[in-house]
Amino acid sequence: MGEFFHSNFVLRWLRAACVVAFLCVHNVKAQTGWDVMKFGGRDYVSLDSLKKFYNFPTLKRSGNTVTLEAKNLIFKVNIGSQEAFLNGVKFVCTYPVIESGSKVGISRIDLTKLIDPVLRPSYIANAGNFRTVIIDAGHGGKDSGAANAYNSEKSYNLKVASELKALLIAKGFKVILTRQSDVYLTLQERVEVANAVKEPAIFISIHFNSGGRSARGIETFTLSPAGVAHYGSDIKSSDFETRNGNLNDSANVALATAVHGQVLGKIGVNNTLDRGIKRARFSVLTGVKYPAILLEGGFMSHPYEARLMENPKYLTAVATGISNAVTLYQRAVSYRKPAAAPAQ
Ligand SMILES: [Zn+2]
Repeated sequence: MGEFFHSNFVLRWLRAACVVAFLCVHNVKAQTGWDVMKFGGRDYVSLDSLKKFYNFPTLKRSGNTVTLEAKNLIFKVNIGSQEAFLNGVKFVCTYPVIESGSKVGISRIDLTKLIDPVLRPSYIANAGNFRTVIIDAGHGGKDSGAANAYNSEKSYNLKVASELKALLIAKGFKVILTRQSDVYLTLQERVEVANAVKEPAIFISIHFNSGGRSARGIETFTLSPAGVAHYGSDIKSSDFETRNGNLNDSANVALATAVHGQVLGKIGVNNTLDRGIKRARFSVLTGVKYPAILLEGGFMSHPYEARLMENPKYLTAVATGISNAVTLYQRAVSYRKPAAAPAQ
């Protein structure tokens, strides 16, 4: 790790962050009553309840920062912010963390749809029962995607997809690519390829980003649960409809966590590179019936990251991170029999 970006000690162990977050919280106490509060018409759950439910030994507050700590797990939020950090991996919550009287709370939807699946992936029913991975290289043919002085996004996407395919096959997975060459597929056609797969599978869409010369880093998208808007957009009535992908809300987040953490770990991490795990309603995420994520593996529009993408080692690092994440995710969601989720 750290081959491409300078890393510091605090974040060096992020490579293993998801292993830790996935595996250490299995000694959950029986539900002893969640402290639910209303705020702005929404349900929030106090961090004191989280501490009790997940057996965190310590809760610390320093200014607006609240930290729950267990032996190998640190969960940190800032009052007023939508960002939550689990062992340094950034999650973008649907609603900001609030303070009400003496209590600090996280929204119930963020607890049930974001935090719990990450802390207790083994409680996600039947998620580990797959050996097929569908890899979607974004764009292709007449649709080049983003472009920079060196190349176009469609070509980087396909290179990573091809490397990932080889890595997964070597580990015994069956792999299906939505495209194997420079051809154009509509988003709906990608969904159809995925949904035609008969056996349990997961779906990983690979893209590279674009957005001005200063934006950089990695972001991982997973489908917004019903009632949660597309990232950066206002909520609209159709956001309350349940889509195919919402059948896998918990698995989606667990898969995103694994991929995001492992890719960051592989390329070398610093704060500017972790843009977080975000919610979106991209067509492939709404339409595919299997757990699905969309990775943006860096910015074509950033001068330095653009050069990196021309380095085959960088693309290999992204592919290796995803490949490791698939194994990690499968292990994490297979850990024990499912049980009830909290605060439903
Ligand atoms: Zn793209």
